[in-house]
Amino acid sequence: MKIDKVSIKDYTTYKLTGKMKLFVPKDISELKEILKKDRCKIIGNGSNLIIDKSYDKTLVKLQHFDDINICGNIVDVGSGYSLSKLSRKCADNALSGLEFACGIPGTVGGAIYMNAGAYGHEIFDVLNSITVLDEKLQIIEICKKDLKSSYRNSLLKDNNYICLKAQFKLDSKKSEIIKRDIINIMEDRRKKQPLEYPSAGSVFKNPKGYSAGRLIEKSGLKGLSVNDASISEKHANFIINKGNASSDDVIKLINIIKDKIKKEYGIDLELEQEILKG
Ligand SMILES: Cc1cc2nc3c(=O)[nH]c(=O)nc-3n(C[C@H](O)[C@H](O)[C@H](O)COP(=O)(O)OP(=O)(O)OC[C@H]3O[C@@H](n4cnc5c(N)ncnc54)[C@H](O)[C@@H]3O)c2cc1C
Repeated sequence: MKIDKVSIKDYTTYKLTGKMKLFVPKDISELKEILKKDRCKIIGNGSNLIIDKSYDKTLVKLQHFDDINICGNIVDVGSGYSLSKLSRKCADNALSGLEFACGIPGTVGGAIYMNAGAYGHEIFDVLNSITVLDEKLQIIEICKKDLKSSYRNSLLKDNNYICLKAQFKLDSKKSEIIKRDIINIMEDRRKKQPLEYPSAGSVFKNPKGYSAGRLIEKSGLKGLSVNDASISEKHANFIINKGNASSDDVIKLINIIKDKIKKEYGIDLELEQEILKG
């Protein structure tokens, strides 16, 4: 069982400095084995994570859990499958419901963990069931009526479940219409988001009734930097890495934003991104 020391840069979209421990199980028995032996944390595409070089758990990447089967309007897919690839594959198969996910650079498992959403839709809207590994390493299937979620939160977070696979139930629609919607969403993202720089998407959740980005913009923080970590000029709820940012740089910037928004508006901003430290 080989645990590698790899660059955080190569396994996350923020591309921060430092190394992390990584294990890539080839099947469920290797996954169970590493979970018994070591202190572990699952990683998808690392697109919502701020990983510090001090983080000492082994990150376990389920990239081989990527089978896909489409039968009518039912899609069974492994948790390591790319969400944007899935959105496009469904479009090819004239299946609608995952268009909103085309620009979210995560895996199916990562998206379910945090109930990823965009353009008024969330991943739980189209989920039919999930199959998870619980803390006793038992495999459980959870059906639609028991799939609990809320804004950027899910039963995976609350129960320490590992998602192995998911089943989606989608609607039939003309492929050309779905593809046109995907093109429009991608154009809108390119216009509004700093996709030319490494980041992990929105830093903060939107407080009830507010847009986190608008609050940050109104408080004049756009463009503020700590070393190579910088608040995007294009979208104030994005922190971008202009080259060699570290997790410390990003966290310092996060704390500056939180303090300013608390002082000016009395609002406690809550992180959407997850910090893995120590
Ligand atoms: C440019 C950009 C745009 C983005 N836009 C959006 C957006 O519109 N909407 C949105 O919601 N998010 C967005 N994100 C954030 C991110 O892509 C999503 O949160 C995504 O769902 C994270 O998936 P991941 O596979 O990268 O998970 P990771 O970042 O690798 O992990 C996130 C969490 O999920 C857990 N996890 C991952 N896989 C599993 C599994 N199989 N079982 C249990 N837990 C698991 C991890 O342990 C970790 O706690 C964006 C990010 C970027 C960089």
